[in-house]
Amino acid sequence: MKDCISIERPEQCCGCGACVNICPRGAITMKEDAAGFLYPTVEQSLCVQCGKCTEVCVFAEKLKGANGDSAVYAAAIRDREALMDSSSGGVFTALANAVLAKGGAVFGAAWVDGLTVAHIGVDDPAQLAQLRGSKYVQSATGDAFRQAEKLLKDGKTVFYVGTPCQIAGLKAYLGKPYDNLLTADLVCHGVPSMKMLRDDLANFSDGRLDEIGTVRFRDKQYGWGVKGSVTLSGAKTKYDAGSSPYYFYFLKGEVYRESCYHCRFPSEGRQGDVTLGDYWGVRQELLDKMGSVDADLGVSCLLVNTEKGREWLASIESTLSITPSDRQSAEKRNKQLTSASVPTPEHETLRDGYIEKGYAAFQEGYKKHGKEHLIRAAKNMIPSKIKRKLNEMLS
Ligand SMILES: Cc1cc2nc3c(=O)[nH]c(=O)nc-3n(C[C@H](O)[C@H](O)[C@H](O)COP(=O)(O)OP(=O)(O)OC[C@H]3O[C@@H](n4cnc5c(N)ncnc54)[C@H](O)[C@@H]3O)c2cc1C
Ligand code: SF4
Ligand code: SF4
Ligand code: SF4
Repeated sequence: MKDCISIERPEQCCGCGACVNICPRGAITMKEDAAGFLYPTVEQSLCVQCGKCTEVCVFAEKLKGANGDSAVYAAAIRDREALMDSSSGGVFTALANAVLAKGGAVFGAAWVDGLTVAHIGVDDPAQLAQLRGSKYVQSATGDAFRQAEKLLKDGKTVFYVGTPCQIAGLKAYLGKPYDNLLTADLVCHGVPSMKMLRDDLANFSDGRLDEIGTVRFRDKQYGWGVKGSVTLSGAKTKYDAGSSPYYFYFLKGEVYRESCYHCRFPSEGRQGDVTLGDYWGVRQELLDKMGSVDADLGVSCLLVNTEKGREWLASIESTLSITPSDRQSAEKRNKQLTSASVPTPEHETLRDGYIEKGYAAFQEGYKKHGKEHLIRAAKNMIPSKIKRKLNEMLS
């Protein structure tokens, strides 16, 4: 008789879903807590106390991954349309195209059933756009690990992309390495809950959730940065920290899952064969070496952590503008590569306030940052080229 999973403190569970996928009795389901974060709950009448769920849970254990010896690159996909549609430099699409061309499948986060983000698998290039683009919310794993395992056992190539905890969860679930599995973990500073995002979109749309078409957290019509858009009744509106309390607090790192403030992945090693992020410092560090690359359209920070990652990169290199870099310069403007987000007193106020009063707590907090919103609005009126020159002069 072995113990089934039991979470004593919220920070012990990252919500990866490995326990749900491994349970042979279907006894575990993910349920929302008061803030909307998903945690496993066990239906005791179905549990046979096999202990598999406890064994597969890696988040509470010491993790091992690739460390400081990864090869680092700045890269951007040459296909301009794909680049415009991607959050960073589109390296995800370059790898996904190569996997699909081999008859493989790609797993990533997509909007499903209206306004929910969940991991799905696709094997048709026409479906790839659903996975493209960062969704700044926790993506539900569902039974994606099981689906991926089935394909792997059938001999298909599988490319699985997710947050580091999702990739660690997948590998723990699989329990053994597969030659035909390629993984990418994202540089990640944390995830709010789907409930928080839905509340924010309800506020943004004046309650017209059913009129929302697309939600993009990064829309390159506004340049390469953290400005997105929401299509409401067919009309596109800017969605960013100046118009959304959720987005504002996401960027400030105040409304994440508790596990994100205890995340060990930045310091204990990358989980993917490759790691994908934004190369925010590219203008200052590398642009003179990148030929015709337009940094306004986005550049990826690419870490190649394993030999398999190196082989896949070699197979797609001709589709990328790419230049070698090093960990130090990549980390300079991306501290998420080295350390977890730090909870502040405002995080605790917002978390407790949201549980007690709901979204009104975000709105109240947001109003208190009125001065910051005014400064941001003023900055937004300065053309980005002039802003960049000013920053260069000041740095
Ligand atoms: C929650 C979150 C936080 C991030 N924080 C940082 C950061 O602090 N610094 C940084 O440099 N980069 C961060 N990133 C990564 C960055 O936003 C881009 O996703 C990454 O650079 C890949 O961009 P791309 O242009 O290659 O591909 P894109 O086409 O933009 O592909 C995005 C890939 O990410 C996957 N994905 C999207 N949303 C989610 C999600 N919610 N959960 C799991 N997988 C998802 C998609 O399936 C796709 O595979 C974060 C991403 C997420 C999802
Ligand atoms: S396996 Fe993942 S979802 Fe399950 S308890 Fe552990 S961290 Fe949470
Ligand atoms: S102990 Fe076994 S049967 Fe019980 S919940 Fe965990 S995996 Fe399922
Ligand atoms: S910060 Fe860590 S725990 Fe939170 S989603 Fe990212 S990888 Fe998972």
